[in-house]
Amino acid sequence: MSDLSKETIQAALAGLKDPISGESLLESGAIKGIVIRGGNVGLSIDIASPDLVNQYETVRLEAENIVKDVAGVMSATTVLTAERASDDKGPAAPTQGKRIGQHAQPGGKISLPNIRTILVVASGKGGVGKSTVAVNIAAGLKSFGLKVGLLDADIYGPSVPKLLGINEKPQMGDNDKMIPPVAHSMKVMSMGFMVDEEAPLVWRGPMMAGAMTQLFTDTDWGELDVLVVDMPPGTGDAQLTLAQRIPVTGAVIVSTPQDIALIDAKKGFQMFQKTDVPIFGIVENMSYYACPKCGDRAEIFGHGGAKETAENYGVEFLGGIPLHISVREKSDQGSPAVLDRNNEALREAFLSIAEQVQDKLLDAM
Ligand code: ADP
Repeated sequence: MSDLSKETIQAALAGLKDPISGESLLESGAIKGIVIRGGNVGLSIDIASPDLVNQYETVRLEAENIVKDVAGVMSATTVLTAERASDDKGPAAPTQGKRIGQHAQPGGKISLPNIRTILVVASGKGGVGKSTVAVNIAAGLKSFGLKVGLLDADIYGPSVPKLLGINEKPQMGDNDKMIPPVAHSMKVMSMGFMVDEEAPLVWRGPMMAGAMTQLFTDTDWGELDVLVVDMPPGTGDAQLTLAQRIPVTGAVIVSTPQDIALIDAKKGFQMFQKTDVPIFGIVENMSYYACPKCGDRAEIFGHGGAKETAENYGVEFLGGIPLHISVREKSDQGSPAVLDRNNEALREAFLSIAEQVQDKLLDAM
């Protein structure tokens, strides 16, 4: 396994032909971003236009199967990218890609018979604490005795492994499924295990959704009461496709109190309403500043905006989490604040949200 190299992968893929031009995908430079993490291999095939996704699906699968057969490979993830077609420099913003969404790969809802409920945690934009809230709700549900899995589908910043202090990678099981690492008694799978943080791929809507659905189906979750999904931020086509393809039980939307973030949260409501996914409620993160020294509360972002928005939209308000240094510190230590007995106020704030979520999940079971 240790002598797996990019060259080995490239050599295995040398015979792969472009279904349109007939030329070698390797020679034309279309095979890119080969990332090897332990036995997990990720790569992208760059295509000329997002509109050609369907024509390249067969070769994408073929590449994946070839790589899976290479000695030492435990899992292979191949995605299609359309860097040549894109004008922007970095990864596609989640809200971009309207054109691509119309060409999303066909495919109905995926079936996950051993998973009783799926909770998605979403936000209109990045940096609002969505992953933090997802991890704390998951750990809260676990502490109530549920069997919990956590899937980090946030391709733009897969942070769940770090938030839970996971350093190992998934292993390959006998049934050809990945065995997820376990942290705080929760099975965890992350996009971060598959992609190179240093060189983010350019993801396009349907391709990203395809890679994400694989994390659901190719992971050995065992029996779960709930799978908590940390969604990519935003309300673009990839998020929409995912919400349509995954049998979601309910959604929690995370927002900060600032108006701009709230406007984004509204888009989140609309997205889930469009896909008939029940919205369990909204969590206001960084709701107010809790001074760790004097315990004073300062409403620096104008507290209460999320509650108001929730009311306007007929969506439940699940509670607020203060901006508190210990949230970040606990995250950096890989231990969710909801488990921290040294800060009961914070623990209670997360537990109260997790409890409301649990009630709604139990109703749906
Ligand atoms: P997102 O998933 O929305 O991008 P993260 O959960 O990764 O956001 O949080 C972004 C940063 O903010 C992290 O460093 C996290 O530790 C910090 N953070 C999140 N919520 C809080 C909070 N309530 N108080 C203090 N820091 C927070």
